[in-house]
Amino acid sequence: MTEVAAPPAEQAQDVKRISHWIGGRTVAGESGRTGPVYNPASGRQSGSVDFATVEEVDRAVQAAKAAFADWRATSLSKKSALLFRVRELLFQHKDDLARLLTAEHGKVFSDAQGEVARGLEVVEFCCGIPELLKGGYSEQASTGIDVYSIRQPLGVVAGITPFNFPAMVPMWMWAPAIASGNTFVLKPSEKDPSASVLTAELLKEAGVPDGVFNVVHGDKVAVDALLGHRDISAISFVGSTPIAKYVYETATRNGKRCQALGGAKNHMIVLPDADIDMAADAAVSAGYGSAGERCMAVSMIVAVGHAADELVGAIKERLPKVKVGDGMQPDSEMGPLVTREHRDKVASYIEKGAEEGATVVTDGRETAPGGDGFFLGVTLLDDVEPNMDVYRDEIFGPVLGVTRVDTYDEAVRLVNENPYGNGVAIFTRDGGAARQFQFDVNVGMVGINVPIPVPVAYYSFGGWKSSLFGDLHIYGPEGIQFYTRGKVVTSRWPDPATSQVDLGFPQTR
Ligand code: NAD
Repeated sequence: MTEVAAPPAEQAQDVKRISHWIGGRTVAGESGRTGPVYNPASGRQSGSVDFATVEEVDRAVQAAKAAFADWRATSLSKKSALLFRVRELLFQHKDDLARLLTAEHGKVFSDAQGEVARGLEVVEFCCGIPELLKGGYSEQASTGIDVYSIRQPLGVVAGITPFNFPAMVPMWMWAPAIASGNTFVLKPSEKDPSASVLTAELLKEAGVPDGVFNVVHGDKVAVDALLGHRDISAISFVGSTPIAKYVYETATRNGKRCQALGGAKNHMIVLPDADIDMAADAAVSAGYGSAGERCMAVSMIVAVGHAADELVGAIKERLPKVKVGDGMQPDSEMGPLVTREHRDKVASYIEKGAEEGATVVTDGRETAPGGDGFFLGVTLLDDVEPNMDVYRDEIFGPVLGVTRVDTYDEAVRLVNENPYGNGVAIFTRDGGAARQFQFDVNVGMVGINVPIPVPVAYYSFGGWKSSLFGDLHIYGPEGIQFYTRGKVVTSRWPDPATSQVDLGFPQTR
């Protein structure tokens, strides 16, 4: 992870400091360690984010711990009313949040607005927490005995989030966590941390009690401090597969409940009977939207039989129309990548693909806007083979590959042999083929003529295989389950007829 002691002198006056949020107020970091935050469209450093020490993480956890008893005891109707206020305030400030996303992540403003809207859907789902926390009741399980189940919060829980959805992914975690009665510590990505701070301010303004929601910024030091903290009961993580695996193994070794969502290599299968225009439009929006920096982005197209030539031609034809530029420019359709290093790494895959034998149909290096921004144009690689690095690696940028196969079976085998299993899509006009595909494929989220099948907020989100470590998917009903534990009560009351006080019950019933 990059680290700077201080911003260059000529930039210093424009560089804002981004600090922790602990116990309902801003707390300046004291470690002396910071990370740079860039505006990817200009390439200039816009912020400097404090990196927390172990002690600072502990302070946040203690604030959360102190807030837990009262928060847990707050009635469901009060929590629900408060979540409605949170939702309203976030909605009022949705464009402020979106502007921060564009400024630090680089995604175009309309896409940033979409991110906030999708995150808000999770908050809206959580407004129904009284319904979601209903337990079960079995009257007369045995004579005079009733059995019922309730769900209770875990305590202090923590979320560790990636750079690519700086507002939405935290909402996937904090909304169900606090709705369920837990208190929360967020460690957002150090690359674009400002949305988390604005979220904290808005939650306070809405009336969320101090300490219920805390933010600590930082790197591995902060993450490790959370993973090892004895007062944290559960960890939610979203990020790359190697870190997800590390987080899952460390958290569970330390006795914590953990859900750790990892990386992806999402395939889009196009059968010969597909609507090619529909598939090409979908490939372009799902492959290059948000500069390919989405865990549900389509990165490999598997063209079956004679679909390939027509499809590659249709995608190629669309690419010159994808306007790459500063995300705040209204006509921009794709923004820059998050950092210079990431842009350079993604660009290196174009060369690598050519060396490995793929056909470079469109080379994004040739169409990137000039200037210091971290831009790369859209790239299309054809004839990609499964043994190539461009097939195997999660590139996480605007590089879309096409693999050609002869049959449906070959296409499904490719997907099922892939170590990742986040999202997949099939394009076909044949309902029977689509139905067979949903039965056959070993992937957690499946789209049928839908390229990015992110589940709506009242289902849960999660991949299979190396895309998720843990059992429960995130947000939706499984999110509530993750942040609560079940308790079953077996009860018997003395027969009222035997009461010392005459209650008016008959002696025998
Ligand atoms: P990342 O794994 O580098 O970082 C994620 C978080 O882990 C950050 O908060 C970061 O500070 C922390 N971290 C990084 N290195 C660490 C280390 N060595 N030890 C402890 N903590 C560390 O991921 P990223 O680059 O921010 O995000 C992109 C990745 O996230 C992609 O792989 C993408 O597929 C994945 N992602 C997955 C989903 C999903 O739902 N499955 C959603 C969004 C992003």
